[in-house]
Amino acid sequence: MRVVQAYRFALDPTPRQVAVLASHCGAVRVAFNWGLAQVKANLAQREAERSYGIPEDQLTPALSWSMYSLRKRWNQVKDEVAPWWAGNSKEAYACGLARLADALANWRDSQSGKRKGPKVGFPRFKTKRRAARSVRFTTGTIRLDGNTHVVLPVLGRIRTHEPVGKLARLLAEGGARIASATVRWVEGRWHISFTVHTERAVALPARPDAVIGVDLGLKTLAVFSDGRPPVPNPRHLTTAARKLRRLSRAVSRKHGPDRRTRQRPSQRWLRANSARNRAEYRVAALRRDGIHQLTTSLARTYGTIVVEDLNVAGMIRNRRLARALSDAGFGEIRRQLAYKTTWHGGRLLVASRWFPSSKTCSSCGAVKAKLPLRVRTYVCEGCGLSMDRDENAARNLASLVERTVAGSGPETRNGRGADLKTPPGGAGGRETSTPHRAPTARIRRGPSPTPGESLRTLETQ
Ligand SMILES: [Zn+2]
Repeated sequence: MRVVQAYRFALDPTPRQVAVLASHCGAVRVAFNWGLAQVKANLAQREAERSYGIPEDQLTPALSWSMYSLRKRWNQVKDEVAPWWAGNSKEAYACGLARLADALANWRDSQSGKRKGPKVGFPRFKTKRRAARSVRFTTGTIRLDGNTHVVLPVLGRIRTHEPVGKLARLLAEGGARIASATVRWVEGRWHISFTVHTERAVALPARPDAVIGVDLGLKTLAVFSDGRPPVPNPRHLTTAARKLRRLSRAVSRKHGPDRRTRQRPSQRWLRANSARNRAEYRVAALRRDGIHQLTTSLARTYGTIVVEDLNVAGMIRNRRLARALSDAGFGEIRRQLAYKTTWHGGRLLVASRWFPSSKTCSSCGAVKAKLPLRVRTYVCEGCGLSMDRDENAARNLASLVERTVAGSGPETRNGRGADLKTPPGGAGGRETSTPHRAPTARIRRGPSPTPGESLRTLETQ
């Protein structure tokens, strides 16, 4: 299987290399801003001419927004615009113009409705303060040097903070190729991220026929249908909250920067601020590590993983839950499961967010109209089942796929969130952590949802 995979390593550049990196990131910004100024001037010119009543075909010609034409223009004028351009790799300017071309295309597609999702704004000029520090290299010498160094154009050999041997071996074996390298300042360090085109052996999970239902929650991060020990919610942010508060207080008591008075931050402020940043990066790193371990282990083991389609974006709007939800990282778990299952030869199925996984009895199929969140044990009035609430939900997710596969052919491929076929009446609406308001207090008995419904309740990822 051909895949495009990223390998990211932290770097330990020398002070000289840091200066060169900063210069390259500045060059990206200069090229972007130059191109944007050209585009804006061209648009304004045409607009002005139109207002004088000049016919469309006699207007100043529209500037092409493609990367190639932007680059061609840049190369014509760079001696005047940026006489110092030779100090940086040409890749830096190409990178800035490519990003501008992407930004313009995204805006245009968003305007015309070709691009889905929230509306994309017109590109804005980048400022030193606001712009992300990042530069991408696509040509020239991009390679690894031993287990401890990378080599980039102009910058030369940069020491890495962590071993790069794994990627080096992959490249040495052949079949893998570095397409580009992006150096960016993130999480308090310079990182390099290689985009690698590689051949991944199509693997089979350890138990190809096994189905596991995964119920994600805040009380316990993940509860499984097959008796696998549940994963507790590590709550890294909550654990670090006291420390972060203390560090933030220390920052706010020092002489910080002020844009209005152009006050420069004191050395003590800089030191305190970087201590706070490091504590925050640590929270992010711990979270990332935990999620990767969970998703990799699941994808390596089970042939079919069933999760719920949680409305994370909607739930985050709840102020009381936003922080805990972001800390748990549900969206990221789902994203990683989606690509890792394809890597390991398994599949991820997503149950509709309207499927009443918590309210259904995993033994007899009765659906409760109400099940407040504080009720941690599911007790069925029909068959007398008494079980942990989340485990019951996980079992329902798993049995959903068993019914579906046993019933008929392959699962339907639905668009995300397009299917709301599980009747919300008896189910009682969304399975969010917000209070439910079920319309009626009836209990529906019998298999629910019917095989046909459950078929539409699942979508393949
Ligand atoms: Zn029951």
